[in-house]
Amino acid sequence: MLAGLPRPLSYSSITLYEECPQKYKFRYIDRIPEKPKHYFSFGQSVHTALEFFYGVKAPPAPTLDAVLAHYKERWVSRGYKDEETEAQYFQEGKDLITLFYRKHVPDFHIPLFVEYHFNTALEGVPVTGKVDRIDRLADGRLSIVDYKTGKALDAARVAEDTQLAMYQAACESLLGAEVARLSFYHLPSLTEHTLPRRPQERIDGVKKRVVLAAEGITKGDFAPSPQETKCRFCDYRSLCPVFRTEALKSFARPAPAPPPAPSAALAEDTDAELAATIDKLGSLLDEVERLKAHVLAIFQKKGYARAFGSRYQAVKESKSRWSFPDKKRVLDLLRSTGLYEKTLAPSQPKIEAFLSDPAFPPDLRARLSELSERTESVELKLEELS
Ligand code: SF4
Repeated sequence: MLAGLPRPLSYSSITLYEECPQKYKFRYIDRIPEKPKHYFSFGQSVHTALEFFYGVKAPPAPTLDAVLAHYKERWVSRGYKDEETEAQYFQEGKDLITLFYRKHVPDFHIPLFVEYHFNTALEGVPVTGKVDRIDRLADGRLSIVDYKTGKALDAARVAEDTQLAMYQAACESLLGAEVARLSFYHLPSLTEHTLPRRPQERIDGVKKRVVLAAEGITKGDFAPSPQETKCRFCDYRSLCPVFRTEALKSFARPAPAPPPAPSAALAEDTDAELAATIDKLGSLLDEVERLKAHVLAIFQKKGYARAFGSRYQAVKESKSRWSFPDKKRVLDLLRSTGLYEKTLAPSQPKIEAFLSDPAFPPDLRARLSELSERTESVELKLEELS
């Protein structure tokens, strides 16, 4: 095993590392299991039934009753939200297996391998995987089939997918035969999406991904890669440093506002109490600014533009501001162009609005810009998560 690599890389672990290195660490280094998911259980149950169908030593195929009995016996019930949902999925799987059986029993054959587990190395990196089915074609070459039980499988994704390319590289090095065709078999629609053998550049692309993931893992690079859509459904969110940073937590959870004091009590407040309240408010505002600066420093260090608390997200925003050191010249310009009267009381925000207005005459904008100094700043915006 490569030093520092906790286990051989599989297609799914490489994808997980690429998606978020911190999530990979939780899953494979810290060995914290994810919550059971019903769609994995469903896929496993259907795969097991098809493994039974194709797993006999010699024809004929097992009967449909035998396949369905095996399906029932090996049903995986983890992760379903309730019994009713589980029963619906069980029936869906039963229907799907029945249709698959009827379609394929007439051309039943014994595959070369069913659930072929491989362990090999790509570019010196240990890799592992499991191919659902490998058939030997009439010309001696191989056909690789991977079953999918998800709701949809679009053709563009199939063409771009590198999972089958990884299987091709591994099978050819281990079985010594050329892979001629690869397919994703989408079971809910009984549709087989077939591709010719993957070209060398695709295989090289897979090897590059394997090496990059292995390098990152062995160097201990597990920086979190937060994205709202991913983090929202991540099982490790409560453990993730992005969400556990004390600054983020305290910044994201402001203390609830105190109830307004009754007016009679207000009248009795002394000036000393008012002064203390003003000082307290000032301290709180100072603390808010300090926390904002702290969060922005973390963003800067980690290259984030956005991070999440459990109730809020913080977003970095770049702002431009103009200042006008020579106010007299600005006022003279406004007067000479008739804009002074239009602005009623010329103020910095109004002049800034002129500068940002695309309808403002470009020559005037240029002259105003010459009299201004532009400052870039980075600010932090806080938004409540819906
Ligand atoms: S919460 Fe987001 S950043 Fe944290 S481990 Fe999960 S996906 Fe990665």
